[in-house]
Amino acid sequence: MSEQPDGARGAADVDPPRLSAVVPCFDEEASLSDLYARLSAACKNVVGESYEIVLVNDGSTDGTWDAIVQLCASDPAVVGVDLSRNHGHQLALTAGLSLCRGDRVLILDADLQDPPELLQEMFALMDAGADVVYGKRTEREGENWFKRFTASFFYRMVNRLTEVEIPEDTGDFRLMSRRALDVLRAMPERHRFIRGMVSWIGFSQVPVYYKRSPRLAGTTKYTVAKMIRFALDGITGFSTKPLRLAAYAGMIVALAAMGLIVYITWYYFAFGVVRGWTSLISIVLFLGGAQMLFLGLIGEYLGRLFLEAKHRPLYVINNVVRSPERSADEGPQTS
Ligand code: UDP
Ligand code: MG
Repeated sequence: MSEQPDGARGAADVDPPRLSAVVPCFDEEASLSDLYARLSAACKNVVGESYEIVLVNDGSTDGTWDAIVQLCASDPAVVGVDLSRNHGHQLALTAGLSLCRGDRVLILDADLQDPPELLQEMFALMDAGADVVYGKRTEREGENWFKRFTASFFYRMVNRLTEVEIPEDTGDFRLMSRRALDVLRAMPERHRFIRGMVSWIGFSQVPVYYKRSPRLAGTTKYTVAKMIRFALDGITGFSTKPLRLAAYAGMIVALAAMGLIVYITWYYFAFGVVRGWTSLISIVLFLGGAQMLFLGLIGEYLGRLFLEAKHRPLYVINNVVRSPERSADEGPQTS
């Protein structure tokens, strides 16, 4: 992360705000004005004027960036970050988290599925000693059975495979203390599964329960392909157990083969030649398939290792728009 723009504390002479809200936005033009209105009202209600709203434009193709620039011009509390292209939700969030300066950081989605009004309750829980207050969904309105089923299956699998307990029905909607955020920012990996990384940190983490609303406008930006990639990031980022599966499967196959050899030998002496084209071809195809599957699994880890080994910057920032009263001018950053 050393190449990352360190626009956080220290870059500005002014005191850090008490709260930063970080929102990744990808084609969210239709949600932005409602988001801004509700989020600023919630922030004012809890911390007065001492807050900033960091809106990260993740290579949107609609008017999202223009809308963000307008908000920056009308309200000095808004910080606009424009990424050079679409880097994906988790990296857009990472960019926002690196630039925000607040003592506490609220992460939420632009589509208002996570209510900013919960901020007060989250603050109270943090005042009582929590370092991370994560939103836990009790209901998911407007999400189809496929999304619910895959999400629930995924969390169950991740929790069985990994050493850290990642709470189920939890997204990235959470309030974090500065010290927890500093630990998160020190994790350099490229394939980021932020909710799992936050669980990994430890400290005191408590849930706040809420009902997840349907998307305010537009459609989900998570396609099935993105969801699969994200799920693989979650599993490969936290566990090497799948690699051990190949060894276990090998042991089982070897045992089965021994049994089969005993059976065939007995059959041969009892009844003469063993016929078995069908069983032979089934076994060959089954083992061929299993081998390719495990090879692919190893490839998943190897590919990620290869990409991590390059040490490229996680994202590229095209522009940061921040009110001149609030900080020194940062200008474009290309790291
Ligand atoms: N998002 C992003 N880049 C992407 C995809 C999504 O910044 O490539 C943002 C999106 O604008 C939203 C958040 O990530 O603020 C969550 O996306 P979405 O609401 O589409 O996901 P869902 O709620 O359907 O899981
Ligand atoms: Mg959403």
